[in-house]
Amino acid sequence: MQGLMQDWPLTVDKILNHAQAWHGDREVVSRSVEGPIVRTTYAQIHERAKRVSNVLIGLGMQPGDRVATLAWNTGRHIEAWYGIMGIGAVCHTLNPRLFAEQLVYIINHAEDKVILTDLTFLPILAGIRDQIPGVKHIIVLSDEANLGDQLPGALAYETLIAEASSDAKWGGFDENTAAGLCYTSGTTGNPKGVLYSHRSNFIHTLVTMGSDVLGIKATDTVLPVVPMFHANAWGLAFSAPAVGAKLVMPGQKLDGASVHELLESEGVTFSAAVPTVWQMLLQHLRASKGKLTTLKRVVIGGSAVPESIVRGFRDEFGVDVTHAWGMTETSPLGTQATPNAAIEQMDPEAQLQFKLKQGRPPLGIQLKLVDDEDKDLPHDGHTFGRLKVSGPFVVGQYFKAEGGKILDDEGYFDTGDVATLDEHGFMQITDRAKDVIKSGGEWISSIEIENLAAGHPKAELAAVIGVAHPKWDERPLLLVKLKAGEAAAKEEFLQFLDGKIAKWWMPDDVAFVDDIPLGATGKIDKKLIRDRMKDYVLPTAAAGGSAALAMSPEPKIYAPEPAPAPVAHHDHDDDGAWLHWTPGPDQTLDRTRAEPAEGEAPADAVRPFRRS
Ligand code: AMP
Repeated sequence: MQGLMQDWPLTVDKILNHAQAWHGDREVVSRSVEGPIVRTTYAQIHERAKRVSNVLIGLGMQPGDRVATLAWNTGRHIEAWYGIMGIGAVCHTLNPRLFAEQLVYIINHAEDKVILTDLTFLPILAGIRDQIPGVKHIIVLSDEANLGDQLPGALAYETLIAEASSDAKWGGFDENTAAGLCYTSGTTGNPKGVLYSHRSNFIHTLVTMGSDVLGIKATDTVLPVVPMFHANAWGLAFSAPAVGAKLVMPGQKLDGASVHELLESEGVTFSAAVPTVWQMLLQHLRASKGKLTTLKRVVIGGSAVPESIVRGFRDEFGVDVTHAWGMTETSPLGTQATPNAAIEQMDPEAQLQFKLKQGRPPLGIQLKLVDDEDKDLPHDGHTFGRLKVSGPFVVGQYFKAEGGKILDDEGYFDTGDVATLDEHGFMQITDRAKDVIKSGGEWISSIEIENLAAGHPKAELAAVIGVAHPKWDERPLLLVKLKAGEAAAKEEFLQFLDGKIAKWWMPDDVAFVDDIPLGATGKIDKKLIRDRMKDYVLPTAAAGGSAALAMSPEPKIYAPEPAPAPVAHHDHDDDGAWLHWTPGPDQTLDRTRAEPAEGEAPADAVRPFRRS
């Protein structure tokens, strides 16, 4: 027997319709790419998004056509999203931090017909224009005056919008219609497309609105630092209008000072970003003696949150941190570390240990922990296993069936993460399956060691990789990038770790480096580090296979050497995986110039390590 309730397809256009109808005068404030702060409302965004739909229809776009965006978080980007999705076209978010040849691959693979781009990325598009013949139109999210003749044939968004009607029909199609497309960062093989449906995005929105998940509400002012081009800004471009929260869009300026200025000037109460962004904000606040007068909560995910960030926010600024885990394939939010009733009874220090875990699944996400033979593992908080996930906003197969069948017989997707689950249902990522260090048949978590090492007062960033060892197979090597002006001996770091990790987890060596490369999504690029360190031999390996620590009697002090000449980036590394360009320290892009200035590294050059 069928239920007798209304057939109301869960399509995302209804989210912006709702915001327009019930929160129409709520503000959407953007730091525009051109510079000034631009203030609009949900009503205006809705009206302009309808015009976008008519512009696209006028350019011949049909339901199912892929329309790409290459853009920062701004109000215009939101208009583009809803304008594309509202008519059943597919919004393909392009990540500008990828190499040009990766973008070419992705644009051609997706068969994008139109690209809406910010001015910032015109040099990138100019450089690849002749390699993306399927793209019929490039629309620049600005006006004629700013566009000028920078990219011949490109159209100015504001001109098109002004001329288009705001009367467009949205929705009216099946809720399983594709709405969005986002390619994974592709650390193995080519990037693969995750094709979200209206239904999956709608359900993800409802779930993440829950007070134990993002928990935002109409009275909040939300600043999504996490980009719309990576994992959908964690759904905030849907959930903020869904609840009628004020939205503050940071544009391209993601450095500590710029984020702080927006937090204070716009009265932001809630924000979300990866740990590196928060690290930069905290450093800026400490250096400038800044305050956070309105911010109440931040969600941190994308990579594990270091304890120092949670403590910094809590103890110095009175801001609550929620740690969350997810991936492009999970829309992206999969777990969040909000306390359950038992944890809430614990003292603050005990609670902190749960805040540092990646957390528990909300309704709609099912987790499984299995060994290499796919047998279930205990939820004891200690046993590591492969983390698998299923649910209505989890990938079922990749776009164009790349990679073939990706679900197991029970319909679970292997995340590629290695994790533990505890008695409270809290999941903790201990590694990526490919980064876990296999020492003497046991697994060592590279992430756990590097998070602890990153808490050393002299460390700016830390990374741990497994290095070949004749006796133990692999042993951990700790790489540390020191804060500017600091010097340290290896032993300082080993002693800092002593007592915090098992003896046999202790790194066999410490290398001080001037650069820990981050990938296109702001995470430590272990693949590139392994590549750079491929000729490195552990002292314990050279000394005949003893696992004893290589404690040199005279500690080698970090001493910067002259920087070697930059090495040009090569297409792919040896197993065909993509290498990533390293974003600048402020996480903004400096790829606005087609050619580097004389004597300067090209924007996509990979700098080699210096090490002591
Ligand atoms: P992406 O699809 O690029 O967002 O990458 C997803 C991957 O990022 C996950 O599979 C994890 O390996 C990693 N990740 C995401 N959130 C966290 C987190 N809170 N802690 C540790 N790793 C994370």
